[in-house]
Amino acid sequence: MALRFFNTLTQQLEEFAPLGPPVVRMYTCGPTVYHYVHIGNFRSFTFQDILRRWLRCRGYQLQHIMNITDVEDKIIRNAMAKNQSIGEYTAQYEKAFLEDSALLRLERPERFVRATEHIAEMIAAIEALAANGHTYQSEGSTYFRIASFPTYGRLSRLHIEGMQAGARVDVDEYEKDDARDFVLWKGRREGEPYWDSPFGEGRPGWHIECSAMANKYLGETLDIHTGGIDLTFPHHENEIAQAECVNHKQFVRYWLHAEHLIVEGQKMSKSLGNFYTLRDVLDRGYSPEAIRYRLAAVPYRNKLNFTFADLEAAETAIERLRNFDLRLRTGKFSEGKCPEVSARIQKARLDFEGHMDEDLNTAAALGVIFEYVRETNAAMDSGQFCGGNVEEAHGLLGLFDALFDVLKPTAKEGGLSDAEVEALVAERQQARSARDFKRSDEIRDQLAAQGVILEDTRDGMRWKRK
Ligand code: AMP
Ligand code: ZN
Repeated sequence: MALRFFNTLTQQLEEFAPLGPPVVRMYTCGPTVYHYVHIGNFRSFTFQDILRRWLRCRGYQLQHIMNITDVEDKIIRNAMAKNQSIGEYTAQYEKAFLEDSALLRLERPERFVRATEHIAEMIAAIEALAANGHTYQSEGSTYFRIASFPTYGRLSRLHIEGMQAGARVDVDEYEKDDARDFVLWKGRREGEPYWDSPFGEGRPGWHIECSAMANKYLGETLDIHTGGIDLTFPHHENEIAQAECVNHKQFVRYWLHAEHLIVEGQKMSKSLGNFYTLRDVLDRGYSPEAIRYRLAAVPYRNKLNFTFADLEAAETAIERLRNFDLRLRTGKFSEGKCPEVSARIQKARLDFEGHMDEDLNTAAALGVIFEYVRETNAAMDSGQFCGGNVEEAHGLLGLFDALFDVLKPTAKEGGLSDAEVEALVAERQQARSARDFKRSDEIRDQLAAQGVILEDTRDGMRWKRK
């Protein structure tokens, strides 16, 4: 079955084919580093991580760019209040974002790009827009004239006829009913950082950074552009206007937007004050894997309701999968290969792939995995499952984990590595054989203190992390 995505631009599920296979050129709007990123933001970033991973499972290579917005209204306001330069102010939050992303096992895009390092590219793009007649100046700032781009509003289904020509907006974020000419370059204001440009001293608006950097690194036409659904308007609408009025080519072929993470019916956001950072949730004792699992488990176009009960359920689900993995690795099975078991694994694999191909339906794909684990456990209990089935069974679990990436527990800070645990377990076995129970108990306690549990099974000793 073909890989299909829901394209916001056409409002249709479309078969995916990149312009230059096997490479997929993709851009993601990254964080504005004015605060710790909250887990609502991470919902969007986890979606793009799953997207990356599935594209690779389907044989594509990624050329993926994510920007870091490090100059913007809120950043300037906060940095000024703290008497810091914007560079000093944003560095701590950029670092925290990268650390949190690593904890959530989000793959790094091929390149991160900072807005402040691409001012020259933005100026060049604004100059090209000016040369093509799409801009005007007013009170020291430069604006994009939306009436000069007849298809403005297509992505967000906005009709601009009847809109007041020449009405302008200076802020970076605004609502649909406030669609106006938007700012490309903001004239210098007292105390704010600024750069020189042919249109006077000042700084770029938010929107120009993404189209300028996307075009620089990915060319005139991108295969995929992702972001949270709230970015559709005005940010992505403005990106399209800017890029297409410079290049006269389609900017993006597939627009993919993640729905919001919500808390008690409302979008989690910094401005509403109803947000948790990753650190807040970890401090309550949840594992990064459970958070990742929960963020990935709801298909990206559905709203994700955030509750701690669901995180508990995620911990339990992961535990079941880890136990299954352990049983596959350490169980003793009879020789041979059972064809019925093989056929069931094959079928589960095809179903899993089919659900992921259908616009990344992670919930249905997980449903297949849990049914498969249940059936396979039953086949092991009854003795139907044989040694010859282990490899294919592991193969499917491996495919699951190549995407969801939750099987390996996060090592506790200062904790034991797998190799160190193995060495202690082996030493304990020796101590027991030598009837040195004192040493054997010591090791058991030492491991328990590190959250490692030993289990005596009929197939021998095995260990797992709590
Ligand atoms: P920002 O740092 O505000 O520019 O947002 C970074 C990314 O997170 C953008 O793609 C936003 O659309 C996305 N985002 C913000 N709030 C939420 C939320 N509650 N749920 C999902 N994504 C969000
Ligand atoms: Zn952007």
